Amino acid sequence: MVVIMKAKSSEEDIEHVAEKIRKMGLKPHISRGIERTVIGAIGDESLLNIEQLEAIRAVDKVIPVMKPYKLVSREFRPENTIIQIGNVSVGGDKVAVIAGPCSVESREQLMATAREVKKAGATLLRGGAFKPRTSPYSFQGLGEEGLKLLAEARDATGLPIVTEVMEPGQVALVARYADVLQIGARNMQNYPLLKAVGKIHKPVLLKRGLSATLQELLMSAEYIMSEGNHHVILCERGIRTFCEFSRNTLDLNIVPAAKKETHLPIFCDPSHGTGKYDLVCPMAKAAVACGADGLIIEVHNNPEEASSDGDQSLTPKNFAKLMHDLEPVAKAVGRRL
Ligand code: PEP
Ligand code: MN
Repeated sequence: MVVIMKAKSSEEDIEHVAEKIRKMGLKPHISRGIERTVIGAIGDESLLNIEQLEAIRAVDKVIPVMKPYKLVSREFRPENTIIQIGNVSVGGDKVAVIAGPCSVESREQLMATAREVKKAGATLLRGGAFKPRTSPYSFQGLGEEGLKLLAEARDATGLPIVTEVMEPGQVALVARYADVLQIGARNMQNYPLLKAVGKIHKPVLLKRGLSATLQELLMSAEYIMSEGNHHVILCERGIRTFCEFSRNTLDLNIVPAAKKETHLPIFCDPSHGTGKYDLVCPMAKAAVACGADGLIIEVHNNPEEASSDGDQSLTPKNFAKLMHDLEPVAKAVGRRL
């Protein structure tokens, strides 16, 4: 770690910082420049309390050398993590595709959609039973009834199911039915929830918050892993920008950036990332092209009748076409569908 002192710091200020570093168990190395003095801290950086050093008024900036995350980092595990979900493996050569409705609405709707996505080659089935809606007056999901329908759809199709959990008290219930527990964008920094899913042994799909940085996303994954659950799949789902033509901006830069920093698989959600069904297919292809390990796509058997997100849902026919069109894209980047 390097401490940059403010210009015109006194010898007393410098010695104060050096002493603090010594007290924290490291050795200060003072280098005096013409404008600024810089103090290096030699030793185990994990012993340092960076916030306390930053609080010293004569300190301009503290630059850590070490990353704040450990278990998620490539240094900790150089090879890619492959997560097994039933007979689907995520993070290897094969690009996984999670497809299904935004919300579970009825047996007919879910079964019809599940059969279609299975036929088109989807590898997992999605559907929300507990829905994080912006308005309290919007459809909130079927709750446990929705989970039961998802389990039925899994039995009928063989597709493992992915569904959202919104609060720590729901984790046991959702884990009884789901194969993968989804943490929604709005809950990416719900730390009690992250700790709760960290204690179970099922994979977690962790969606990026609406304005979260890569580091914040990785720190949230670290929360889950630090509790013992190392089966975390990251998911880019679009961030807030000034663009008004789409619901969010799918930040594909994060895919190669995350690959450098972490061994965890990363998926993309072009449905929430664009909010418009006609933007979903091009962005799904772009996501695979830039190295995403999987996709999560909203598909509805009748988008016009959807209780949520009909405008960004693909019809089964469009989804089948997308699966077909994705094949050469995956192949071009050394993957398969
Ligand atoms: C969803 O996948 O249904 C969802 C609500 O996504 P997000 O949390 O990314 O908005
Ligand atoms: Mn949705």
